[in-house]
Amino acid sequence: MSVSYKNPEFELIPCPICGGQEFTHLFHKKKEPFVRCIQCHFTLINPRPSFEQIVKTYDSVYSGNYTKKAGKKRKRALRRVKRLKNSYGLFGNWLDVGCSAGFVVEAAQSQGFFGYGIDIEAGGLAYGKKELGLSNLIEGTLGEHQYPNQFFDVISAYDVIEHVPDLNLFLTEIKRILKPHGIVDIGTPDIAHWRVPKKLSTWNEFKPSEHLYYFNKDTLGKLLEKNNLKIVNQRLSLKPGLKVTISHAT
Ligand SMILES: [Zn+2]
Repeated sequence: MSVSYKNPEFELIPCPICGGQEFTHLFHKKKEPFVRCIQCHFTLINPRPSFEQIVKTYDSVYSGNYTKKAGKKRKRALRRVKRLKNSYGLFGNWLDVGCSAGFVVEAAQSQGFFGYGIDIEAGGLAYGKKELGLSNLIEGTLGEHQYPNQFFDVISAYDVIEHVPDLNLFLTEIKRILKPHGIVDIGTPDIAHWRVPKKLSTWNEFKPSEHLYYFNKDTLGKLLEKNNLKIVNQRLSLKPGLKVTISHAT
């Protein structure tokens, strides 16, 4: 069925993966419609609030969150950096997209990388600069901040892709700034995970205005393929998360 929605602050988009314009309605949460593409089965909020509306929610949702469990986040960041470094023999420039306070940037620097971070939410960046002494943190989106072509050996984006308004623009940028042999590491909720509740609407990862997209390995793979990228490794996740490493496809 086609979805119609008349709130002018909402925008209706074609499926970012297959371009399809027909969606099956799944449920509403906080008046936002969760739908599934009829052609490729991608799950998303559609129509969804405008980007300006979404960004407004970020300050309230995320402010003050950086210090919470900082020790745990630091350890996790270091684990992630060491794993990628050791698995792929990487060195050079590391960009963490959606870096918040910059724990991954800090960990990358401690392992010999030149660490860079970018985030649209200013509070975390301020904390990272002040408390962690990080200078390479920038506010904005990838599209706004034009990094040089083929600049990064590693790009990480943990719990980011489900928030990004224009997925294809995002991946075009990732591909452009990634070195030919570079690696991208992504983590996002996995809608096909065995621990996702059978009554789908009760899954706590369904977050109106925040999580715009709900991937599984198949839909993420198709989106990457469309953007000339490919999954080279998937790691087991005990929580309902999709953890993949990505490279250029061609
Ligand atoms: Zn589709």
